[in-house]
Amino acid sequence: MLSINGLDVYHGYVQALRNLSMEVRKGELLAVLGANGAGKSTLLGTLAGLHKPASGEIIFNGKNVAGYKPEKTVRQGVSLVPEKREIFGSLSVMDNLLLGGFHRRETKGQLIKEAGEILELFSPLRGREGDMAGSLSGGLQQMLAIGRALMAKPELLLLDEPSVGLAPLVVRDIMSAMAKLKDTGVTIILVEQNTRAALKVSDRVVIMERGTIRGSGSSKEPVSDKEVRQAFLGKTLVRPAGIV
Ligand code: ATP
Repeated sequence: MLSINGLDVYHGYVQALRNLSMEVRKGELLAVLGANGAGKSTLLGTLAGLHKPASGEIIFNGKNVAGYKPEKTVRQGVSLVPEKREIFGSLSVMDNLLLGGFHRRETKGQLIKEAGEILELFSPLRGREGDMAGSLSGGLQQMLAIGRALMAKPELLLLDEPSVGLAPLVVRDIMSAMAKLKDTGVTIILVEQNTRAALKVSDRVVIMERGTIRGSGSSKEPVSDKEVRQAFLGKTLVRPAGIV
């Protein structure tokens, strides 16, 4: 479904992605792990059209979408749930959900029906439709942020650290909702610091280091602690020339 070839992305003078290539199969749940600053958020942001690549291709369903603007990317079927959630705090839960589908030219009645299905998936949100989104707990806000992205009917859902700052039971609910979504055929790329939860829910894992993919494998095979530790802490120290 997705084939990324030789992607280079800069933030000003900082090169955040370096000649990054990877493939994502339709219907899989791919976890992306790596240390802070490895480039995980930049990868998701670039797939969502927030960062324009300096070079490289993003072939999504046979079309090169690299450099598409975010609104055009959403219409291709790619939705991002950003790390900071970015819900509209002063709007109601229902209005946040409806806004997620605003570009789809559906009737309001149809969108309300679909919002109801999302409330089924994230049942703790049920009965809170009229509440201001900003008054919800962090866990419910995260569910709402994912729900809003789903209202765009994405084929590819990008999740940036959904578990950050949440209690273990809420993380479990969110991960089990991801597994249910995957069963409906949505392809998911999940960036996570919570390695254990990510390995449990995903089919495959890629490890990023310094802007590129360092390794990949099935999440069901045991990942050696050394490999994961290295991905999080970086490679062995490189000593400057001349220092022993
Ligand atoms: P984290 O887990 O901390 O979010 P990450 O793996 O998601 O890390 P990115 O946030 O993509 O990594 O950052 C990749 C590199 O790009 C880092 O060196 C970071 O400092 C740099 N970077 C990210 N955003 C910007 C920006 N807006 N301006 C300048 N540099 C940036």
